[in-house]
Amino acid sequence: MRKVLVLEDEASIRGFVVINLKRAGYQVLEAETGEQALQVLADNPDVSVALLDIMLPDMDGFEVCRRIRSKNSSIGIIMLTARSQEVDKVTGLMTGADDYVTKPFSPTELIARIDAICRRVGIEESPPSNELHSGPFQLNVKNRTLEKDGKRIRLTQVEFSIMKLFMENPDRALSREEILNQVWGKDYFSDLKIVDVNIRRLRMKIEDDPTNPEFITTIWGYGYKWGR
Ligand code: CA
Repeated sequence: MRKVLVLEDEASIRGFVVINLKRAGYQVLEAETGEQALQVLADNPDVSVALLDIMLPDMDGFEVCRRIRSKNSSIGIIMLTARSQEVDKVTGLMTGADDYVTKPFSPTELIARIDAICRRVGIEESPPSNELHSGPFQLNVKNRTLEKDGKRIRLTQVEFSIMKLFMENPDRALSREEILNQVWGKDYFSDLKIVDVNIRRLRMKIEDDPTNPEFITTIWGYGYKWGR
């Protein structure tokens, strides 16, 4: 069953949302403060979507969003904004939210948004198989390990995600923007150099001769490709 976290300090609104989500078949967790929400998520890493109110007693919903995103790129986040807070929508999306709904919202509208995000999260979370093979490399998606000729190569989480992206897309030119979006998340705003730096480090770990790479090919002015 899909788990949804509802962060809303106003009991009447929270109750209304919770009842409707339960009716729609979701398992619902509740929080009244930002701190509570972060704790609930720490205890329940399987939450698919978080609904975040903005005006809260301890911190604003954007701060909650930012803190969730710093640890979890795959969870869906929907901000609950007031009609008067047009600016909130932009701020929310900038801090890593996926979507927003404006109060007062209908349960149907809210559930449609949650369902849409769940479908996307579901796609990202379920790789077609647990193991990817390419040349001497074997990547285990479940254990997040990489072996080259049967020998384990230690990777950071980011390096692992880049390897996974490459091995899922053999012989395909991937732009640096695409790598950034896929690995760091579409809401991650950073310099594209972060991609180059990580590729350089990855090459030192996986290539026989990092200065003359055999597996990760540079496509000048564009990005990288797995394979020659
Ligand atoms: Ca509130």
